[in-house]
Amino acid sequence: MIPSVLPTYNRAPLAFAKGEGSWLTTVEGARYLDLGAGIAVNALGHAHPDLVAALTAQAGQLWHVSNLYQIPQQQKLADLLVDNSFADTVFLTNSGTEAAELAIKMARKYWYDKGQPERIEILTFEGAFHGRSTGAIAASGAEKMVKGYGPLMPGFKTLPFGDLDALRAAISDKTAAVMLEPIQGEGGIRVLSDAYLKGLRDLCDEVGALVVFDEVQCGVGRSGKLFAHEWAGVTPDIMMVAKGIGGGFPLGAVLATENAASGMGAGTHGSTYGGNPLGCAVGARVMEIVTDPAFLAEVNRKASLFRQGLEGLVASYPEVFEGVRGTGLMLGLKCKAPNADIVAANYGEHLLTVPAADNVIRLLPALNIPDADITEALARLDRAASSLTLS
Ligand SMILES: *Cc1c(COP(=O)(O)O)cnc(C)c1O
Repeated sequence: MIPSVLPTYNRAPLAFAKGEGSWLTTVEGARYLDLGAGIAVNALGHAHPDLVAALTAQAGQLWHVSNLYQIPQQQKLADLLVDNSFADTVFLTNSGTEAAELAIKMARKYWYDKGQPERIEILTFEGAFHGRSTGAIAASGAEKMVKGYGPLMPGFKTLPFGDLDALRAAISDKTAAVMLEPIQGEGGIRVLSDAYLKGLRDLCDEVGALVVFDEVQCGVGRSGKLFAHEWAGVTPDIMMVAKGIGGGFPLGAVLATENAASGMGAGTHGSTYGGNPLGCAVGARVMEIVTDPAFLAEVNRKASLFRQGLEGLVASYPEVFEGVRGTGLMLGLKCKAPNADIVAANYGEHLLTVPAADNVIRLLPALNIPDADITEALARLDRAASSLTLS
């Protein structure tokens, strides 16, 4: 008999009742150190007092009004995003997938309004993840996500990862946009070089194609910059944000330049819940905290501390691990042993890590993880790896 919860997930037999900082407590009272942060969502850890205060204060005032009316909390969050990024304008969503849908629509509408309605092609990349909607799976092109869901939305072409020559060969004046994660998350913490991102921007500029960055996982301080593309000094025309922006509350956004958003007038797009007062009150507080240069400096300091320890771990267990990947606190361990076995061994040490493609385990701690918790995480990773080598 089918379970009452649709069985689309492969869940670990763990149920958590409470979270505080980087720690989760199960319903039975066991404590786990959380290096997953809800897959890069709980950017400030669990139950951050400022976020609890922002949410509960708003909850006591007003939950929902609809976008028929002005929403001051939405205005505040949009202003914070515009003031701290390349963008001139923002649409608020409830998830990364919804942000991907709008990014695709915006890119196509741009060319439609420019009198080139046939210019619909969107170039994407192997290993990409943009969500699970019909549009987002067409953008990923991955067999395991699209199988059985055809016919797929047309107009997407998947290119090899990080290969500028392949992009040069594929891009043309038929290309509406190029869509990619500056650092692939689900794909295995694969970082694109600054040179690649600069080259991609130049190629897009040559044909006029829009650049769409998906920073749903790598954005909002995760990489040690507010947005990961800042490391390369390259800006997109459109950007998707979600996950960390809500600190655990469902929230997403599409950021765009005035030019890229020029097709999106009244009535062209909408959302019932997108930009609701609850999500925006929390998101604004997250932005106020994460945009503080001192906060980002701390992310980078913690990241190098963690990374140094991880390099040591890899050196100690060369039969288990192959290397460390990532930027900031978006870290991955490329494994030699099956990543699922290592994630399971980490569970045994009461440590939560997240598998990714390419036989990688992801380490995506809260951006404010205390140094002592990093030290503790490294000790647990070491014990787990040692248990694997002994068995
Ligand atoms: C998680 C993710 C998405 C989808 O976000 P949802 O909130 O799950 O809809 C899209 N792009 C990237 C890069 C992601 O990591």
